[in-house]
Amino acid sequence: MWLWGLGLKEALLHWVFPRICTACREDLPPPLEGPLCGSCLLKLRRLSGPACRRCGKPWAGPEACCYDCRKKLSPVDAVRAVFPYRTPLPELLYSFKYGGRLWVGRALGDWMAGAFRLQAGLEGADALVPVPLHPARERRRGFNQARLLAQAVSRASGLPVVEALHRRRNTRPQWGLSRGEREGRMAGAFEASGPVKGRKVLLIDDVCTSGATLEACGRALREGGAASVRAFVLATACGCKCACGP
Ligand SMILES: [Zn+2]
Ligand SMILES: [Zn+2]
Repeated sequence: MWLWGLGLKEALLHWVFPRICTACREDLPPPLEGPLCGSCLLKLRRLSGPACRRCGKPWAGPEACCYDCRKKLSPVDAVRAVFPYRTPLPELLYSFKYGGRLWVGRALGDWMAGAFRLQAGLEGADALVPVPLHPARERRRGFNQARLLAQAVSRASGLPVVEALHRRRNTRPQWGLSRGEREGRMAGAFEASGPVKGRKVLLIDDVCTSGATLEACGRALREGGAASVRAFVLATACGCKCACGP
């Protein structure tokens, strides 16, 4: 019984405010800090291994870019992600975005900021632009998760957060839609409304699935005069048919 190893104050605090692992719901005994238990923390692996030079998704073919990226031109020159979108990332993001647990978001921001310093392919950016929520959705949620992640990267890198995009339409969540359907739904959903002319922009978002949202943002930023557009996201669905896809 781990409670015997604690002081009376810690044991009482834990009894009044019990903490559980965000992913597996196991009890989190003090002094463990952060949103995950030890075994879920071990599942949190950064993306590594061969990847597409443009979209950053796992790709081991002989060409530098994956099949999808070779098929068409994109306004986003490169996408880099910290984690694959599989357990415990969906649970952490659900808790942050829909459960409103900002302390989980702070942990995600810290991990993202730590990874930014080591991330190849994003050098030379001069502005962090969070993917905006529609104002009505942001009012309901109380925050924009991409802005909070961008602020964490900004604190670590010194790059300014520039709110350069505006969301014109309130698109519904896109889980279960094909890539073509997502692109159709996102077309024209954003417009540049801030100072991006001549800037090397780094878009910031929580998850990249098909890439349709980032592409729509990239197009708006290019139309607004951005010199280049790349993207840094917390997690990416790997693009294959395995369990980490949406
Ligand atoms: Zn756990
Ligand atoms: Zn690719």
